[in-house]
Amino acid sequence: MKYQLEPHHRNVPDEELLKDLKRVANEIGKNKVTIDEYNERGKYNNCTYNRRFGSWFTALEKAGLKKTRNLNIPDEELFNNLVEVWTSLGRQPKYNDLKRNVSKYSSGTYEKRFGGWRKALEAFVAWANEGEAPEYIKTDKKGSKARTTRNINWRLRALVLMRDGARCQLCGATPQDGVKLHVDHIKPWINGGETVLENLQILCQRCNIGKSDIELKNTY
Ligand SMILES: [Zn+2]
Repeated sequence: MKYQLEPHHRNVPDEELLKDLKRVANEIGKNKVTIDEYNERGKYNNCTYNRRFGSWFTALEKAGLKKTRNLNIPDEELFNNLVEVWTSLGRQPKYNDLKRNVSKYSSGTYEKRFGGWRKALEAFVAWANEGEAPEYIKTDKKGSKARTTRNINWRLRALVLMRDGARCQLCGATPQDGVKLHVDHIKPWINGGETVLENLQILCQRCNIGKSDIELKNTY
């Protein structure tokens, strides 16, 4: 076999490069193309695009395709973000709520991942419901009583939020009143309270601080 240099693509017009990129996207049925996907099916090579457009992302942008940077957000991360949005809104988020200043990801991201906004919420609830099983601290000591971890994981936070309706359980404040909500151990963890749904509640920042003052007084 005769050795051949890789052909030069300097004279290929931008439009032709972008056209081929779109063709590949079309072929794999996605609105984004990774470098590997392109190199496997494309007429050219990703380096040609990098040279011409400065970066792979710019090329995708020029072709009207989605950037691939955030493609691999794990479901877990999308759900965690929903917990945050839910907490800051104080209610179940609606499709149009996922604005840049409230949410790290767009409603479209959820839609695409789960096949619809409603389906995304359903997946979220199913995910949260798996969080009721307590997480225990691993201990080597024989006979020592297993304790739950102090950290309240995202699934548990979601469950508390849905149960308490994103409202302070002491004063009734919601994020619309300009307060931040926290998930609080009813019986403090440090005093033996466990990290389980029944021992958790939503408190606003003000009541939470008030509560820890009382706890401090009780402790000392
Ligand atoms: Zn409160």
